[in-house]
Amino acid sequence: MVEVIGFGLAGACVALQLQRAGYRVRVVDDGHGGSSQVAAGLVNPVAGRNFEPSWEVQKAWEIALPFYQSLGKRLFHSVPILRLWFDEVDRAKFERKRELVKPWIADVTDEGVLWKQGGWLDCPRFLEAAREEFLDKGGEWHDAPLGGSQIWCTGASGLIRRDFSDIDHRSAKGEILTVRIPGWGESRILNRAGWLIPIGGNLYRVGATYDWDRLESGPTDEGRRKVENILKNFTARDYEVVNHVAGIRPIINRSRPVVEFQEGKGWMINGLGSKGVIYAPRLGLEMVDRLK
Ligand SMILES: Cc1cc2nc3c(=O)[nH]c(=O)nc-3n(C[C@H](O)[C@H](O)[C@H](O)COP(=O)(O)OP(=O)(O)OC[C@H]3O[C@@H](n4cnc5c(N)ncnc54)[C@H](O)[C@@H]3O)c2cc1C
Repeated sequence: MVEVIGFGLAGACVALQLQRAGYRVRVVDDGHGGSSQVAAGLVNPVAGRNFEPSWEVQKAWEIALPFYQSLGKRLFHSVPILRLWFDEVDRAKFERKRELVKPWIADVTDEGVLWKQGGWLDCPRFLEAAREEFLDKGGEWHDAPLGGSQIWCTGASGLIRRDFSDIDHRSAKGEILTVRIPGWGESRILNRAGWLIPIGGNLYRVGATYDWDRLESGPTDEGRRKVENILKNFTARDYEVVNHVAGIRPIINRSRPVVEFQEGKGWMINGLGSKGVIYAPRLGLEMVDRLK
């Protein structure tokens, strides 16, 4: 029996993958909810200001997409991403990187570069679907660890608590708004110093803030103001805020996710950072391989 502690993106993926590989699996989740419950689910192969492809994104996504699709529901929404230019210097920077990011270019216009292979995962629905499959196939579910062979997938709360003593982290709090903008009709994901994701029914998810110093959870007025400024970068239209959430991204130094073993403690999958959707299924498979 393998015990998976934490059922966010990391725990959900590895629990299902182990179960599908024939292991008996017990999930332990304290029900507090982690960043996977608030994540916007954005998948952006070339994120950031410097047009750098995400680390081994192609390899990770070749594992992740079929995994999400295997849950049988429409959880991943494929949507082109328009990375808007900041200015001419930014555009010149892109031209220097054009060859490197060629696999993801759908179009280049005076507005910006349109990336393919982007989109968003409905994270809360993914967690629901994963839990359903896990329980249907006879998985056990508890709210406190029982012991034995353990895999800790406890996200930022585990890093802050130092579940694994030798891991330094620089986790970052983030806030997101969901806004209603009637009649706008923007259907692409927009990205420039923040992002906006159309999620249907005149609703858009907008974010996100980064705060490394004040990790206490919960949405703040300051966070809301910052996200509203991101939104104003994309449209001057009137909007209504319908939801405001906050969470903490689990970021380990070097910003790479890890699968690690510590004597006397067990395995850990953590450090998914701001790209949990891309990396969680790949880390889960790596875990399955390492248990063989
Ligand atoms: C504002 C914001 C926006 C984001 N947007 C995106 C995005 O667009 N795209 C993207 O890919 N990523 C995004 N992320 C990052 C993403 O949320 C994380 O990479 C990912 O969710 C981390 O998953 P996890 O399973 O490691 O941790 P978590 O989701 O935090 O899950 C940990 C789980 O463990 C449980 N737990 C903790 N301790 C214990 C314990 N001792 N016993 C039992 N259970 C325990 C918690 O309750 C929780 O269910 C965003 C994050 C934030 C904060």
